[in-house]
Amino acid sequence: MKQINAEKIHNLLLPAAEADRRKIDGIINKSKSLKRLTLEESATLLAVQDVGSLEKIFAAASFVKEKIYGKRVVLFAPLYISNFCCNNCAYCSFKSDNQALQRKALDPGEIKQQAEWLLARGHKRILMVAGESAPDEKSNIDYYTESIASIYAADFKGNKIKRVNVNCAPLSESEFKELKNSGIGTYQLFQETYHEETYRQVHPSGPKSDPDNRLDALNRAFSAGIDDIGIGVLYGLYDYKFETLAMLSHIQYLEKRFNVGPHTISVPRIEPAGGAEFSLHPPHQLSDNDFKKLIAVLRLSVPYTGIILSTREEAFLRDELLSLGVSQISAESHTAPGGYASGTPRAKRNCAGVPHPAEESRQNSATQFDVADHRSLDEVVAALIEKGFIPSFCAACYRKQRTGEAFMNLAKPGTIKGKCSLNALVTLQEYLLDFASDKVKVSGERLINRLSRELSANDQELLKNIFTHIDCGARDEFV
Ligand code: SAM
Ligand code: SF4
Repeated sequence: MKQINAEKIHNLLLPAAEADRRKIDGIINKSKSLKRLTLEESATLLAVQDVGSLEKIFAAASFVKEKIYGKRVVLFAPLYISNFCCNNCAYCSFKSDNQALQRKALDPGEIKQQAEWLLARGHKRILMVAGESAPDEKSNIDYYTESIASIYAADFKGNKIKRVNVNCAPLSESEFKELKNSGIGTYQLFQETYHEETYRQVHPSGPKSDPDNRLDALNRAFSAGIDDIGIGVLYGLYDYKFETLAMLSHIQYLEKRFNVGPHTISVPRIEPAGGAEFSLHPPHQLSDNDFKKLIAVLRLSVPYTGIILSTREEAFLRDELLSLGVSQISAESHTAPGGYASGTPRAKRNCAGVPHPAEESRQNSATQFDVADHRSLDEVVAALIEKGFIPSFCAACYRKQRTGEAFMNLAKPGTIKGKCSLNALVTLQEYLLDFASDKVKVSGERLINRLSRELSANDQELLKNIFTHIDCGARDEFV
């Protein structure tokens, strides 16, 4: 992989294991001034083992998260449009070898129906996800753009999806232009592993077997004008320290070449996937403690990049990770095409994290992997409110063209935090009026009242005005 110097990364990790506390404290102090860390500094923090220093890293990550993002947490849901796939990724149920999987590619009507189901729960942001084979001899790009149009066409009592992000296979530059023109927000692509040997082992066939094509895809997306990019590693495939450092070095490469880095980082861990034996025993299974550490180190290393956490993780851990740097979470997710409207049961686990055999119909289901957080959107909103976070359904930046470099120019001086917090309060108020349970209505209103009192007199006035409009039926009144 030509953008990644594996030897350099291994060499940075070796001396990092021996760092003394004074050096570690110096790096933590630097990170609190919101300065980016060097790769060497990130390597040093990733190597920390002693509890005292770890606590300091967690405290610093909370501080940085609060400084840049304030209390808002953005909510979204994935919408799987197809599980047909020409690749054979060892860890994924959708792999072409998996004969037991019920294959399904949704048509435009079904996709609209799925989006309307999500709209009826209160969702406004969707991550469209697909395997790498389109139905009916269609090209992938035609299937994606048609599906995006169906999602935007969905309507529930006047509510519309405000932003469609996409996680799909790499495209050519001209196809990426088409994808951008279809009105997407972020294009997400996870490298899975930056360790070339491992990459080749777990991706034995299909277009995904070429690691450089995947790495170069983000260059093509940027060149095509998509300035909102999401990257990620699939943790469990190789050593987490190497992967995290390699991802940070990929970010540096993108920033140098395109003047702007990724908008978000995703941190999926391998979850059990039916028909993919490998997923049950990942070679580098990541413990919860190391997971927490790497998220905190990412927060300190790239303070202005959003961190996304999915329902792969259990509720208690998700709640904990919010204060360590996570800025976006999914809720009420289903990983099968058509999963929302059909009511297909989501696989459940017992309290030790072991999949429940009685409920487990993985072998013949259509799901990609098990999710671990089964709460409804309303329950997730309730948990956020209880912890003092503002659940946000905002997509104002995208609509007001605050993306890519323009977003970063606002994020760096901290200007974006003010806008995000106000818009989060506005969208929470809309959610409370339109979708919330009675219990969430009460706790949400209490939170809004409390946080409004902390605003400047000008912002209080602005918010009061917007709320009056919302009461009269207006929506999407953004700052
Ligand atoms: N097919 C496209 C691709 O592979 O890039 C996009 C969709 S794929 C469904 C989205 C992501 O799911 C992959 O990039 C991978 O990281 C993740 N994934 C696959 N199998 C998984 C598993 N067993 N547990 C957790 N995440 C998994
Ligand atoms: Fe296909 Fe993506 Fe699953 Fe690999 S991870 S089998 S490419 S859907």
